[in-house]
Amino acid sequence: MTLVTNHLPTAELQALDAAHHMHPFTTGDELNAKGARVITRAKGVYLTDSEGNEILDAMAGLWCVNLGYGRPEMGQVAARQMNELPYYNTFFQTTHVPAIALSAELAKLTPAHLNHVFYAGSGSEANDTNLRMVRVYWAEKGQPQKSHVISRKNAYHGSSIGSGSLGGMTYMHAQGGMPIPGIHHIGQPDWWAEGGDHTPEEFGLARAQELEEKILELGAENVAAFIGEPVQGAGGVIVPPSTYWPEIQRICKKYDVLLIADEVICGFGRTGNWFGCETMGITPDIITIAKGLSSGYAPIGGSIVSDEIAEVINACEFNHGYTYSGHPVCAAVAMENLRIMQEEDILSHVHNVAAPALHAALETLGEHPLVGTVNKSGMMASLPLTPHKESRAKFAGEGGAVGYMCREHCFANSLVMRHVGDRMIISPPLVITPEEIEVFTKRATQALDATYKDLKDKDML
Ligand code: PMP
Repeated sequence: MTLVTNHLPTAELQALDAAHHMHPFTTGDELNAKGARVITRAKGVYLTDSEGNEILDAMAGLWCVNLGYGRPEMGQVAARQMNELPYYNTFFQTTHVPAIALSAELAKLTPAHLNHVFYAGSGSEANDTNLRMVRVYWAEKGQPQKSHVISRKNAYHGSSIGSGSLGGMTYMHAQGGMPIPGIHHIGQPDWWAEGGDHTPEEFGLARAQELEEKILELGAENVAAFIGEPVQGAGGVIVPPSTYWPEIQRICKKYDVLLIADEVICGFGRTGNWFGCETMGITPDIITIAKGLSSGYAPIGGSIVSDEIAEVINACEFNHGYTYSGHPVCAAVAMENLRIMQEEDILSHVHNVAAPALHAALETLGEHPLVGTVNKSGMMASLPLTPHKESRAKFAGEGGAVGYMCREHCFANSLVMRHVGDRMIISPPLVITPEEIEVFTKRATQALDATYKDLKDKDML
């Protein structure tokens, strides 16, 4: 067996990676030509790469490491569970203690009517579950034709063919035969980019009313559900105007359309409450969870459904499930994550310390000439870059080139900020301290300044 460890030189690790590892959402040839960054360890909010750089991770991995890296309790619980019961399934009339404990705990943490969990290994799988479950729900109620699902353009719900179809990313739909039939996309509530001369409130209402138009076009008797992220994450941290979600809720109720809140990013404290639906003041029928459920320490996701849906689904055999639904090690790790979050009162830290410090930092960054506005909700934010703040102008071309430039300057300054098009994205571990936020602000300012200089030099401003 080839012994591959942290001790190998970076170039050797990169060569092996290029030879054998295919990366998600990546042009392999380009990456392989330059070599991937090799992350070797992490603690708190800092990553260490194979060259010894200490990088501040203002993305919490992929919006998931809410507790921060390197909590030894998580590893201890995983080891204990691996020794006691590393695996058993929850098919064929069996269950196990980690799945029981986690389900009961989730029922306590979620809004009162959401008490039943169907597990998956990821957010994508959980959204696939939702797609099938809402259709089975209506079929069991004698309305099998009530099967269409409405989502939004620029939504992200996962990468499988079902969840990718629910998502509204055109560059994903362009590959592999998506979207599948029966899924429809309405406009997103992105006032900054698409609101024109409307006030945010007018625009929020108008975009929500597109749901009503689509339901009427399809016939309410044919529409099973609407799905949306309380705050769109991968679409660019799009915080909807205050008028948006109440109107969506009203429309769903009026036409008997189930409301699915995809909480894969927003859940578990990201927006400042346990769930984004609380922040947005909505009552969904189903929430999708993953990421922050285990702070990314183990792959686990799920759908938490209302008492009413569970009553209908439990009355039939739902022919659906995954080998790793409720995996005992992942469930035990998720449970430990929830224990730490509650015992250390991470939500109070967010509320009293981290979010106020982050918001103050974002205000400072918002004054930078390149930054068009600050979109924020709790501990997630985006900074759209613009050549002209007042007119909310976009850079010429398809978008993304300037964001990419800025992201590269971030990396050069030992900071991870992701870019979505020309928006810079911030979603740090929830445990980040004000001192670490100062480091973030300093590095982000340097990256913005360097991007500004590049654009001036290239006559792009
Ligand atoms: N839903 C949302 C809102 C997400 O942000 C993501 C992942 N970024 C997913 C679903 C898919 O989750 P996973 O990558 O775990 O399949």
